[in-house]
Amino acid sequence: MTDHIVIIGGGPGGYEAAHVAAQLGAEVTVVDTDGVGGSAVLTDCVPSKTLIATSELMTDMSAAAELGVNFHDHQGDAATTISVDLARVNARVKQLAADQSSDIAARLDRDGVRVLTGRGRLGPDMTVEVTTDGDSETVQADAIILATGAAPRTLPSAQPDGERILTWEQVYDLTEVPEKLIVVGSGVTGAEFASAYLSLGIDVTLVSSRDRVLPGEDADASAVLEDVLTRRGMNVLGQSRMQSVTREGDTVTVTLTDGRTVSGSHCILALGSIPNTADLGLEEAGVATDEGGFITVDRVSRTSARGIYAAGDCTGVLMLASVAAMQGRIAMWHFLGDAVAPLDLKKVSSNVFTSPEIATVGWSQQAVDAGEITAEVVMLPLAGNARAKMQGVRDGFVKLFCRPGTGIVVGGVVVGPRASELIHPVSIAVSESLTADQLAQAFTVYPSMSGSIAEAARRLHRV
Ligand SMILES: Cc1cc2nc3c(=O)[nH]c(=O)nc-3n(C[C@H](O)[C@H](O)[C@H](O)COP(=O)(O)OP(=O)(O)OC[C@H]3O[C@@H](n4cnc5c(N)ncnc54)[C@H](O)[C@@H]3O)c2cc1C
Repeated sequence: MTDHIVIIGGGPGGYEAAHVAAQLGAEVTVVDTDGVGGSAVLTDCVPSKTLIATSELMTDMSAAAELGVNFHDHQGDAATTISVDLARVNARVKQLAADQSSDIAARLDRDGVRVLTGRGRLGPDMTVEVTTDGDSETVQADAIILATGAAPRTLPSAQPDGERILTWEQVYDLTEVPEKLIVVGSGVTGAEFASAYLSLGIDVTLVSSRDRVLPGEDADASAVLEDVLTRRGMNVLGQSRMQSVTREGDTVTVTLTDGRTVSGSHCILALGSIPNTADLGLEEAGVATDEGGFITVDRVSRTSARGIYAAGDCTGVLMLASVAAMQGRIAMWHFLGDAVAPLDLKKVSSNVFTSPEIATVGWSQQAVDAGEITAEVVMLPLAGNARAKMQGVRDGFVKLFCRPGTGIVVGGVVVGPRASELIHPVSIAVSESLTADQLAQAFTVYPSMSGSIAEAARRLHRV
């Protein structure tokens, strides 16, 4: 008999699970309120990286003069003669997101997946109630996946108005370049937006409650980023906790807990996310959540209720599209009896899309310093790399961690342009337990940034 899988939420956690389930011969229904692709495609990951593509171009152009390129007849700082048309940028962002959502819908259709537009809620005895414009339908399931994602956190004292006080979902409605932008929150999302808008030529103040930007990342990496951002003119306010954000006319004021105030024309709130798990019928169905409302799952995505799985941001395991997708696939491989390896967070590579980018995989410096793992560490600045010199790149480094004795590579950090691409050889080494010698022996192109990864690995050679 064919299994019927019902998936609530059509983001990467949901649609990747749907593809696997369809491939393994199940009948699949995806329920989504907003259109497939989820927040990842419609409001978060895809739009922000599309905006960042424009900001990267602006960063490259601002370095053009050093490489001998002038945009006009006169000499001078090229960046000052370039301007961004934010209305066009944002129109492109929205179009690209909508196209991506349509592509995903077409692929689901080709796989024979039924997509229902509406709100899903767990019902009794493995059913899902789908509500659309007041109408409701009950769908019977053999297994259910909850992949409802998360939404921007706001505070009663810092409420978005969609015009000048904005969540990250609302920034693409801007048609004019903000005169003075304040970004509250220096985690990954805050740092990415602050860096992107700075590159677009906007006056940016970053309000960080911690002593450094990106407190969760490698400390050497965040030091490089903070140095670059301040050198390029960003006002970074460390140890500054936001108390409230208010608006009067065209002025937005951020008041800090110590009484200081910062004023600007616009403010982006990047205060983290809350899971979309309220009113899903979790308690009645016996699905346990933690104190933050995130659904508790094991490493094969099972919740505490038999036959009900959860994937992605609603589990809070690691809020990345790649992890959501893998949790969704694992759930289906597990339920439908295919070969499955439990989720291994030590193999996840991730990237902060600031300028420069920060990519990491495996064990971290924090874990080494805390004695959680013994590892040898080598850090190599990119400034010595021949390709970097040719391209005028001075900031960034490659850092590798390997086990003493065996030399097995257990982690790495790359800071630099396109670090998201450069991390891949390190990611393969971590995932396949390669030694530093093996990583060093593979040819790299000369000249190339990846040469620094091989060079760092060579420096870990022990006789
Ligand atoms: C600004 C920003 C940038 C990011 N950039 C990256 C990046 O570069 N790389 C990366 O890997 N990750 C990135 N992320 C994280 C990534 O977006 C998330 O990890 C990813 O969206 C999680 O996917 P998901 O399937 O769990 O949920 P989502 O993508 O949030 O999808 C969930 C879907 O479920 C729907 N839904 C919710 N409740 C119901 C219901 N009751 N019934 C029906 N449908 C429902 C929602 O409307 C939504 O469409 C970024 C996040 C942010 C905020």
